[in-house]
Amino acid sequence: MEILERHRITLFTILLCCGGLITCSSNKTKTRNSNSEVIMNFQQTTEAAKLAKQLEQKGISDQLVLKAIATVPRHEFVDEEIRGAAYLDRPLPIERGQTISQPFTVAYQSELLRIKPGEKVLEIGTGSGYQAAILFEMGADVYSIERFEELYLSAKKTLNSLGYYPHLFYGDGYEGLPDEAPFDKILVTAAPEEIPEKLMYQLRIGGWMVVPVGGRMGQKMTIIKRTGEDSFDESLHGDFIFVPMQKGIEK
Ligand code: SAH
Repeated sequence: MEILERHRITLFTILLCCGGLITCSSNKTKTRNSNSEVIMNFQQTTEAAKLAKQLEQKGISDQLVLKAIATVPRHEFVDEEIRGAAYLDRPLPIERGQTISQPFTVAYQSELLRIKPGEKVLEIGTGSGYQAAILFEMGADVYSIERFEELYLSAKKTLNSLGYYPHLFYGDGYEGLPDEAPFDKILVTAAPEEIPEKLMYQLRIGGWMVVPVGGRMGQKMTIIKRTGEDSFDESLHGDFIFVPMQKGIEK
C-alpha cells in the first residue's frame, strides 16, 4: 500500500514537472511575441544549430543544407502543443493528417538536389512550409504546390510571417506547373506509387527530380535525371516512409 502511495507521489511529481515544462515552452512562445524576441531567437538558434550538428554527424555534408537547418525556426511550423519536440530529429503531425518530415529526411532530400543559389526548384507537397523555407534559405527560387487549401493557406501565413516568400500554389502536384516549367530541380515530399510522368517533362534537360517512389509500406528515394528530350536516368538512394501523394485537391 505504502509502495503504491509512493509510486503515486512519484507519478504526481513527474506530472508536475512535465506540466512545468509545458508551461515553460508555452511561455517561450509568448515571450517571442512580446519584447524579449532576442532571447527567444537565441534559444531557437541554438537548438536549430544543435540539430544541424546532429544531422552532420548522421552523414549530411552539404554546407548550404546544414546552414539552412541551423537557421530556419522549425518550431514555427508546428502546433504550439508540440513545439517542445520541434528540434528533435523526428517527423511531427500537422493538420489534415499530414506530417512535417523528419529533419534528416528534409536534409537528405535537399542534399540530393545539390541546389545552387538561383536555381528554379519545384516542390510538391508544401505541407507546413518547412521544406520550402529550407530551399528558400539555400537561395533557390522556390515554387511549391499543396493539394489541401487549408495547408496552403497556413503555410503561406507562416512562411510570410518569417520573411520567406516562395511562390505558393493550391493545386494538384501531379499536374506540376506547366506555365512555370522548365525547372532545374523538382522535389516530391509525398510518395507516388509511380514516377509522375508530367513532372519528368517539366525538368530542364540536365535537371533532376528527387522523389520517394512506392506504396504505403515504404518507398525508395529515387533520382530521375532528364538527360535528353525523351531520355531519363534513374538511381535509387535508400528506403523511406512518406505520406502518399494523392490525386486532386481538397479544401
Ligand atoms: N514538405 C512538407 C511535408 C509535408 S507531407 C513539409 O515540409 O512540411 C506531404 C504533403 O504533400 C502533404 O501536405 C500532402 O497534403 C501533400 N500532397 C500529397 N499529394 C499531393 C499532390 N498531389 N499535390 C500537392 N500536394 C500533395
